[in-house]
Amino acid sequence: MARQTFNDDDDSIANSIPHKPVARFACAAGQCPMPGTIFTGSTGLCVYHVGAHAGDWHRITRVLVDWQCVMDEINAARRAHCSHDLAGNPDALERLFGDAWKRLQPMVAGAWEDDLKPGAVKAGQPEDYREWGIRLERFIGQRVVEILRKRLGAKAA
Ligand SMILES: [Zn+2]
Repeated sequence: MARQTFNDDDDSIANSIPHKPVARFACAAGQCPMPGTIFTGSTGLCVYHVGAHAGDWHRITRVLVDWQCVMDEINAARRAHCSHDLAGNPDALERLFGDAWKRLQPMVAGAWEDDLKPGAVKAGQPEDYREWGIRLERFIGQRVVEILRKRLGAKAA
């Protein structure tokens, strides 16, 4: 019987599990759910961890994990816009945008729905999927800043 070998570059098994796509370059900060797309030396960090004190990494990761439903949509929007097939297909992107909100809306119904719902009009133009994804990234950035301020605020106040 031939020995089975595993190819580290093959994500097909992990990616076959629904809703758990593998980040090819995971953020180096602990259990961070984001890809580590900003490289500092040999390790990649996500936009939320880069530049932060290592002592704050776990606080930041906690925010990202608490908001996993939003992180999933940020990553889905990024994947769609990085896909060669989808990026140039506005109809497909619009469909994915609708699906994204159908997934997220029940998770944020009530308190955060108004902050996160798509279609906020900006200068008379409806928001598109890419803009919504960026707004979600900023929303999480605000949550990260809040948690770090809370820690620093105790000293500064
Ligand atoms: Zn990270």
